[in-house]
Amino acid sequence: MSKIVYFCIPAHGHTNPTLPVIRELVSLGHEVYYYSFQEFKEKIEATGAYFIGCDHIDIGMEDDGNGADRVGKDIVFSTELIVKSTLAFDDIVTNEMAKLKPDVIISDSVAYWGKLAAMKLGIPFVSSTTTFAFNQFSSKIMKKSFGDLIKMLFQMPKTKKILQPLRDKGYPADNILSIVQNDNETNTIVYTSPEFQPCSDTFSEKYSFVGPCIREASTIIEKTAEKLIYISLGTVNNKLADFYNNCIKAFADSEYEVIMSVGKSTDVSSLGSIPANIHVYNSVDQIAVLQKADIFLSHCGMNSANESLYHKVPLVMFPQTAEQVGVARRIAELGAGLFLDKSDSSSIKAAVQTVLDDENYRNNAAAISDSFHKCGGAKVAAQAILRGMVRR
Ligand code: UDP
Repeated sequence: MSKIVYFCIPAHGHTNPTLPVIRELVSLGHEVYYYSFQEFKEKIEATGAYFIGCDHIDIGMEDDGNGADRVGKDIVFSTELIVKSTLAFDDIVTNEMAKLKPDVIISDSVAYWGKLAAMKLGIPFVSSTTTFAFNQFSSKIMKKSFGDLIKMLFQMPKTKKILQPLRDKGYPADNILSIVQNDNETNTIVYTSPEFQPCSDTFSEKYSFVGPCIREASTIIEKTAEKLIYISLGTVNNKLADFYNNCIKAFADSEYEVIMSVGKSTDVSSLGSIPANIHVYNSVDQIAVLQKADIFLSHCGMNSANESLYHKVPLVMFPQTAEQVGVARRIAELGAGLFLDKSDSSSIKAAVQTVLDDENYRNNAAAISDSFHKCGGAKVAAQAILRGMVRR
């Protein structure tokens, strides 16, 4: 039996894919200590892991997700954030980790404090990447401009200075790139298939493309019309009342059933009177809905995209952040979804109709689903983690 520590950020999209993997590790008899935040306690404990709350630690990410979105775009901002959060975690790292002596630390690819903890203490490390893996080739998909790269290079000396407090505390933090980059030497789990991951052949054999690890649905949805449209913009950048109103207008009293998840920061009653064929909730069991849905109008968060394609559901894509644009571009490239160009009610209606009428979208989604099923999911991820325990 081994002791495994997992560090995550406070985001459903970064937590959900890890849960079946943690459950698998626990079922194999390993002890898992999952450092996360109160909002996620219940679902983490349901896996059999020990939950350790980090809410008292200021990791510097704004609740609206803007902080998370700036990471990776603004290198000085990212470096300051990494220093701040790692120093905030330093107590846990130097005291708790030293006592616990885990056999391996797994860390979400943007929970840099976990990676730095492993580096400082010389503990084997596995990176868990819930987005696409990024290197110089795949980043082209995100269309990072040449200007951005030059700006980043000019800022490197500044970031070296910002990292000094970490070096003072014993972290081997020489340069920011060695901390933020997906490199070819680190054991890395990526929750998608090599077919969906852009440029997957440019990553080393240290990368395990395990496919989406989809949790079980907790309910069964009964469809009330021939076609079910599911609409959600995820759990972070989802405060778009106008968009939700336009969706209601687009499908009011149509032949379709619509389930719309508007997130916790939109008051459902503020959307006015809602026709009987449309059901609006703050949150739904997305897996249960996707098991029955015919189309997903989505922001294309990596998890929503993975979950949709896994269930062979084609998408209409309305991305809100650069990362979501990258995911949406890949889906469009593989022919499994259509970009929503304008978000007025007639454009929404037209895009949804186009995808519903053209079976190529559904067939292409099914082909990606097949590639996901071949990957092995949580079992393969758990094996990759156990292999990563071997000290280098
Ligand atoms: N989700 C859910 N119910 C909802 C909306 C979202 O269970 O009503 C889940 C969804 O299944 C996915 C996660 O929340 O696992 C959202 O992650 P994603 O990466 O798609 O987007 P984010 O919320 O991080 O923008």
